[in-house]
Amino acid sequence: MPNHPSIIARPRGASGFEGRYVHNGGHPAFRVPLLHALYAGPFAGDLDAMGRFLIDEHPAGWSQLGPDPAVDTGWINPMPPVGDRNFRCYCHGDRAETPLTLTDETEDVVWLHDWVFVLRPAGVDIWQSFDGVWLRHGVRGWKPKARPAADQGETA
Ligand SMILES: [Zn+2]
Repeated sequence: MPNHPSIIARPRGASGFEGRYVHNGGHPAFRVPLLHALYAGPFAGDLDAMGRFLIDEHPAGWSQLGPDPAVDTGWINPMPPVGDRNFRCYCHGDRAETPLTLTDETEDVVWLHDWVFVLRPAGVDIWQSFDGVWLRHGVRGWKPKARPAADQGETA
């Protein structure tokens, strides 16, 4: 499955975005349900806290986002299997990469990233890179209640 390099972002100015790179799992079929679950579950509807964690506190960006922000977020060498990665960033743990802010004005940003997910008070604003321009898919509104995460309550 392609990585679908993406950006997790907040609004910038009237019609832009600013955020961090996310290497894996960037297709909306996976990312939107995950962001909805994070908003309704761990962050309890606190969009500011969610933005601080996803964007401000991990300024070098992410290998992958996961369902539980309470777990260790640092990079691990060697990296465990994909399913066990959860939140793994490029700035903590065994990696200490330079902070990188990506915006709608970053050079070649539309060519290098498949999707942008802009966190808005109303929901997740989805942008798709297509032939050098951004297609705007609109806002997927936050759900009032969390669905149980797939990896919780599973039987042994
Ligand atoms: Zn980090």
